[in-house]
Amino acid sequence: MTKRETAVNCLCCGQDKPSWDYSPGSHTCTLCSMLPIDQAVIKARGTAQREFLFATQTKQGRKQARINAKLEKYKAIGKRCTACHHLKQPEAYNACAPQPDGLQPICRTCNQVRAQLVKEPGGLALWHAVRDGLRKSSPEGK
Ligand SMILES: [Zn+2]
Ligand SMILES: [Zn+2]
Repeated sequence: MTKRETAVNCLCCGQDKPSWDYSPGSHTCTLCSMLPIDQAVIKARGTAQREFLFATQTKQGRKQARINAKLEKYKAIGKRCTACHHLKQPEAYNACAPQPDGLQPICRTCNQVRAQLVKEPGGLALWHAVRDGLRKSSPEGK
């Protein structure tokens, strides 16, 4: 049986290297571990700066930071489904990249029920009735 390789992020150069590229207990890859300390410090500083710039200066990085903040909040209090108005954990929502939080506004359960119902004639009205029923049982009660 072969051991599965796990990639480890080197604290010095910031690259993902296979786990065998590290001495036990070390957080820097063999290449970086061999560097003289002053060069290693310069390299680590460059990595930290690149990561900082990515997180704060790029559109993608800022979006990711906003998403992470929202996910933290959802984990604590839940995300409100715009259909049933229940507060649910982020796992209860399908991913949707264009959304500001990267998740669909309505929960997976509502999404499935709606998709099923609207296929039928008059399904939209039926879905609205089901949805209103769900809203009544939500913390908001409406
Ligand atoms: Zn390294
Ligand atoms: Zn819902």
